[in-house]
Amino acid sequence: MVKDDCIFCKLAHGEIPSTTIYEDESFRVYFDIAPATKGHCLIIPKEHYADIFEIDPKTAGKLFELATAVAKGLKKVLGCDGMNIMQNNGSIAGQTVFHFHLHLIPRYEGDGIDFHYAHSEANMEELAQIAKEIRANI
Ligand code: 5GP
Ligand code: ZN
Repeated sequence: MVKDDCIFCKLAHGEIPSTTIYEDESFRVYFDIAPATKGHCLIIPKEHYADIFEIDPKTAGKLFELATAVAKGLKKVLGCDGMNIMQNNGSIAGQTVFHFHLHLIPRYEGDGIDFHYAHSEANMEELAQIAKEIRANI
């Protein structure tokens, strides 16, 4: 499915230009237009899925398989020291384009990027209960 007003659907099918690293019939991998670091790229399915809650598991699995190859290619070519894999779902989580995409963000010593957040203390009883409920729903 292609969504008419979706910028990444247009990009997936070449209607909007992108610096593409790789493409096949199901996926496109291209550089982010506003990169966090050198080599920051995105992997998208060509089919429209808004987010993790919509994407079908087989497509997601194949996409992540592709991500392992792209990550190795980025590391080999750019010599990064590490990499963050990020995937935002919903505005509250920082998603701005509502077509599923995986960020690959190469990391370099001294790049100044900070993804850290404050940690809280876990309530073990509550977690055990929630784990049980989730288990019944997957
Ligand atoms: P999100 O915030 O939804 O997780 O990430 C969206 C990403 O898409 C952002 O990092 C943004 O820079 C990138 N982006 C938005 N529009 C375009 C575009 O037209 N071309 C490319 N290559 N990247 C885009
Ligand atoms: Zn789309």
